[in-house]
Amino acid sequence: MALLSEFLALAFAPPPRLPGQLVIQITNYCNGSCPQCGMRREAGISRVKLPAETIKQALRDCAKHGVAAVSFTGGEPFINIPEILTLLDYAGSLKIPCLRSGTNGYMFVPGAEGPDRLIPFIEALAKSPLRNFWISMDSADTKTHERLRGLPGVIGGITRALPEFHARGLYPAANLGINRCIAGEMIPPLGEAEDGGAFFESFRRGFAAFFAKAAGMGFTMANVCYPMSFESAGTGKAAYGAISDNIMVSFSRRELRLVFRALLETIPDFRKSIRIFTPLSVLYALSRENSRELLFPCLGGICYFYMDSRDGHIYPCGYRGGEDMGASVAELRKSAKNQKPFCSECHWECFMDPSQLFGILRYAIRHPFKAYAGKALDRERMRLWFADIKYYLACGLFDGRKPPAKTRG
Ligand code: SF4
Ligand code: SF4
Repeated sequence: MALLSEFLALAFAPPPRLPGQLVIQITNYCNGSCPQCGMRREAGISRVKLPAETIKQALRDCAKHGVAAVSFTGGEPFINIPEILTLLDYAGSLKIPCLRSGTNGYMFVPGAEGPDRLIPFIEALAKSPLRNFWISMDSADTKTHERLRGLPGVIGGITRALPEFHARGLYPAANLGINRCIAGEMIPPLGEAEDGGAFFESFRRGFAAFFAKAAGMGFTMANVCYPMSFESAGTGKAAYGAISDNIMVSFSRRELRLVFRALLETIPDFRKSIRIFTPLSVLYALSRENSRELLFPCLGGICYFYMDSRDGHIYPCGYRGGEDMGASVAELRKSAKNQKPFCSECHWECFMDPSQLFGILRYAIRHPFKAYAGKALDRERMRLWFADIKYYLACGLFDGRKPPAKTRG
């Protein structure tokens, strides 16, 4: 219901169109070693964490102003388990409807927590008001994933933990960050003279292997994070430290179109075996030649916001680090008031996917005849959008507290 009300509020509400979502980076500390990430444990950055009171104030403001969704991110948001459990409980006590967070899975590495601590952790998380819990995966190949993350044995540990979560009513999602190692061996950059067929097939196989792997491990839900590279961000002034120029996650525009098309063509084969959040209508737009013209401007800085762990300030998103919107969620209504959506610089799925889904809805409500006649919106995109909405409803709007329904497609 939270997502449904967010959906309707975004479709009808005037600017600044809160409620929306706030992504709070609670820390940039991390115990993972992902080479594609600026926050890996070996990175020589200054480590910070937001004071608990700063986060609690933001949560109180979110509750007061009707923000529908709060995501806790990192670094590794679960690096201090008691602290995030306390924050989740606090956010729940304020009745914020949709709470999300995730982990690199370090606690599932054999010996990291021990059974005497792991089961109590799972129990505590299941009892918390967390709605969606994601566990990151970089590759369908176990060895590659564990080497990249620096977490030996983590895939086996996650596989053993999943039934414990399910038994307690929490259904974690596998979160794939698109990179060139999704199937194991690095997929090399596409040469200018190449036609792209082999590159496309490599990603097609990689995505298929990933969804099969996630479902085989016992995941009932999956999401795909689009590449977070500087080239796709455009500005180079990113606030969020996960954004990187590493070759693993850097793609040319031509490569990105092929990657998105590979994903678009793979997902339908797996929508019945695992709930996949990634919307086909968005992938369709992203995979077109003129994708920028097909996209609705992002709602980052209008409805969606990012709070950075270094200063506790709010930015339009993780990329637009040059646009400090101040430290107060309560002030966002004023600062976002006169802004109109304009940006389509990157593919940050947290903001991109809902911006596109709601964009079509808003358009259809305001221009029903044009939308129905297929004059202004691409017919295939509209067809996929209706298929996405039908699928989202069949998946219970991806409520991580519910088991998968028997029928969806
Ligand atoms: S991608 Fe996540 S787990 Fe990996 S180093 Fe970055 S913050 Fe840590
Ligand atoms: S498209 Fe959205 S997330 Fe990307 S830079 Fe623009 S406002 Fe930020």
